[in-house]
Parts: sequence; C-alpha cells; structure tokens
Amino acid sequence: MHYDHILIRYAELSLKGKNRKQFEKKLEANIRDVLKEFPAIKVRRSFGRMFVKLNGENGHAVTDHLKDVFGIHSLSPSLKVQLNKEDICEGALWAAEDSLPEGRGTFKVSVRRTNKDFPLRSQEMNKVIGGHVLRNMENISVDVHNPDVELKVEIRDDAAYISAKVINGAGGLPVGTSGKVMLMLSGGIDSPVAGYLALKRGVTLEAVHFHSPPFTNERAKQKVEDLVQVLTRFGGKINLHIVPFTDIQTTIHKQVPDNYEMTVMRRFMLRISEKLAENREAKGLVNGESLGQVASQTLDSMYTINEVTAMPVLRPLITMDKMEVIDYARRIGTYDISILPFEDCCTIFLPAESKTKPNKLKASRYESFLDIDQMVNEAVENTAVKEFSRNMELDEDFDNLF
Ligand code: ATP
Ligand code: MG
Repeated sequence: MHYDHILIRYAELSLKGKNRKQFEKKLEANIRDVLKEFPAIKVRRSFGRMFVKLNGENGHAVTDHLKDVFGIHSLSPSLKVQLNKEDICEGALWAAEDSLPEGRGTFKVSVRRTNKDFPLRSQEMNKVIGGHVLRNMENISVDVHNPDVELKVEIRDDAAYISAKVINGAGGLPVGTSGKVMLMLSGGIDSPVAGYLALKRGVTLEAVHFHSPPFTNERAKQKVEDLVQVLTRFGGKINLHIVPFTDIQTTIHKQVPDNYEMTVMRRFMLRISEKLAENREAKGLVNGESLGQVASQTLDSMYTINEVTAMPVLRPLITMDKMEVIDYARRIGTYDISILPFEDCCTIFLPAESKTKPNKLKASRYESFLDIDQMVNEAVENTAVKEFSRNMELDEDFDNLF
C-alpha cells in the first residue's frame, strides 16, 4: 500500500453561497496551475474537500507545491480504500504501521462520515478500526488526548480516505478572489513581504518599480525582477511596471527644499502608482511601510504623503518589527535577493535629515512650482511592462515553509 492521494482541506465555514462557489473554483484552478508540471495528476473537488490523485507522481514534490497555495488550510497524504469495513481496517492498520516504524506508540482514530448510507456510524467505526489496530500491533495503545498518530478516516460517497499526518497549508484566501492591487516594489526587504501578505488575502498582484538610471543601474532593476519572479510562486502571473523616475527626481531635487524632497518624491510615487493602478483596474495600492520604522513612515509622514490619493493604501507590515519582516523574507525566499547591495532610487539625492513631521500645506506649496499632471502623465506614458509567471525550476525544497 502507499498514499495515492492528497486530501486538501480549506476554510469554508465563514463562506456562504456565491462567495463560496467562487472561492472553491479559484482554489481548484490555482491548484491545477501549480501542479501543471505533474501531467498524470487528477484534481477533484467534492463537498468541502479537494482530492489530488497522484497517479504515480511524487507525493513529496506535489505536497511542496501545494504548500504555496493560499486558501489551503491543511493537507494530508491519503490512502483511498473501498467502502467496506475490512478494507478500511486494513488501510488504517497500514497507515499506523507506516507512521510508527518502530511499531510502538500511541494513536487515536477519528472517523468523519459524510456518506450517510455507510452502515456504521462514526463512533462505531472508531471502535472497529481502533480494535483492529490494537489486535495487530503489539506495542501500541490508545491516547485520545495527545496521540503520536491520529488516524483520520473520511468515509465519503465514492470511497474512504485514510491519513495519518496533517501538514499545515499556507492559509489565507485563494489568489484571485479579492480583486487586484498594485504593489509598490523597491529592492528592499519589506515590500516583497508586503506583496506576499497581500497575496495571502487573495488579491491578484501587479507591481510597480521606480527606476532612476543612471543613478540606479540595470542590476538594481534585475534585483526587482528576481523578486517578482519569487512572488509568482505564490501569486501566479504578475505584471511588473517599471517607471522611469530620473527626470522627476532631478526636478524635485532642483525645486524643492532638501527637507521636503523625500515627502514630495513619495507623493509623486503615490500619484503615479494610483494612475497605473487605475489603468489596470486595480482598486488598491500596497507598500512595505511599518509604522515609525524610518522618517518617511511616521504617522505625520503618512498623513502628508497619503493626501494625494483616495485609493486604499494597504500596509500589511504596519505593525511589524524589522525582525518579524526578515523572518518572513527568509521563509518566502526573498531575503537573499533583497540584501544584495544595489542603490534604490529613494536613497539617491536624499539629505541626511528628512522631515519626520512634514505638513500638507508646505508640501503642496512646494509642489505648486511643479507641473504635477504633466510630470505624472509623462512617467505613466513611458512606463514599461513586463510579465512574469511561475517558473517551476525556481522551486527548491522549502520543506520548513510554515
Ligand atoms: P523596502 O524594504 O520595501 O524598500 P523600506 O523600509 O526601505 O522598504 P522605504 O525605502 O521608506 O522603506 O520605502 C517604503 C515603501 O515605499 C517601500 O516598502 C515600497 O513599498 C515603496 N518604495 C520605495 N522605493 C520604491 C521604488 N523604487 N519603487 C517602488 N516602490 C518603492
Ligand atoms: Mg527601501
């Protein structure tokens, strides 16, 4: 015997009617997409569960891919057996032996019966299976509170599925169920993590990067492209918009007093991101700000910078300490790329001292010498777009992911 299926559990209780249908459909499509490279596999959805039939494909590799899919609550390698007492008992015994190779330990049985035509009730089946295992393994006993192995048996309409291990999924909502947002992606540590967490809530992602050649070079751009490539692992297709920002930065540097340069530059980034978002029918922006982390991320700064857009600006990292963000970055595989030392456009020209309490009136006054619309429109018109999609070769063994 061997585990021939992977059973997928997803959160469903809070979802009703149309939402739930959409959730399930998207999840199924996303699962099929991450499993494209396993041609023999069959995916099936049935009453609150999904089943992946392995058909000989490598179960570990398939599980690794599934761990990246948002909307999956947990996974279990499962053995499919026929709907009769004897086969179920044999299967459960095999699973117990397989997960206790020394043959000793404690276990419990949890039967879940959705097939009401099956003659024995869950409680009765618990006893029947438990008895069978106890009779056939010498050094094993029952522990209902803290067992070494929980044998889960799902009795369904088509068959019974037996599993002995629950692997945590990525949680969240399926990508594509929450609308679209535009991620402001620098080459730093924070914004890729913000993108990952936004994806976790089910959004479709596009990304925008402000590039200031020759102050920032091709390799800085490459770094951002590499980060987007990593994010496709969780988000599927992602468009990256590269905005030429040199002229705007140079103009701001000439016209705006040093201590407001950063504030005004950020306001331009927001205006341009909003335009790009609208063009792509995205309904929100995402950035990597964390409250109080640096001068531009004080509440006063956010208040003054945020004034230029009415679009929701999502800040998934707002409450996080740097160490927490770094921890995420390591787990999702962006950290090593982010720490490569290339200039970001935000750091050029900038004075040592930026205002930590910029005010709106002053920011607007300094901007009144600039042709804002013209600057924004020109940047938007000259923006280049590049599409990225999931690259299976990038996938390594991220066994410890969540
Ligand atoms: P990160 O680690 O994401 O660079 P940070 O802590 O360095 O963040 P800032 O440099 O102040 O913070 O940038 C704040 C946010 O502004 C970033 O998280 C990102 O969302 C956005 N941002 C900064 N620079 C750029 C850029 N060149 N292109 C696009 N977005 C940017
Ligand atoms: Mg940065």
